[in-house]
Amino acid sequence: MKDVKCEIVGDLLVSYRDKMTTKETTEMLEEHLSVCDFCRDKYAKLQQLSDEEEKKETDRGKQFQKKLLTYRAYGIGFFIGLFLPVFILTVLFLLRMLTEAIRDKCIFF
Ligand SMILES: [Zn+2]
Repeated sequence: MKDVKCEIVGDLLVSYRDKMTTKETTEMLEEHLSVCDFCRDKYAKLQQLSDEEEKKETDRGKQFQKKLLTYRAYGIGFFIGLFLPVFILTVLFLLRMLTEAIRDKCIFF
């Protein structure tokens, strides 16, 4: 009987760790964990595994953020590199057109 219960507890430990169990199940599990070394050990290992996974996730998140910042910097650099010369050339072109128009037609002189 005890083995069966340990099996059931084992099935529920992941849900219990992720706080996905109902109040009744949680109480049953906590009661069992307080008396069963086997399941307590299993749960401790599960928690340890979870912590390691979480750390890996965090590291992956940080790496992704770093990559995102790098790409954003590239994006801004690309934008400035492409549009700033175009903008400057357009302004120069317009100024030249304006000065030529003023000179040729002598609007103001
Ligand atoms: Zn047990």
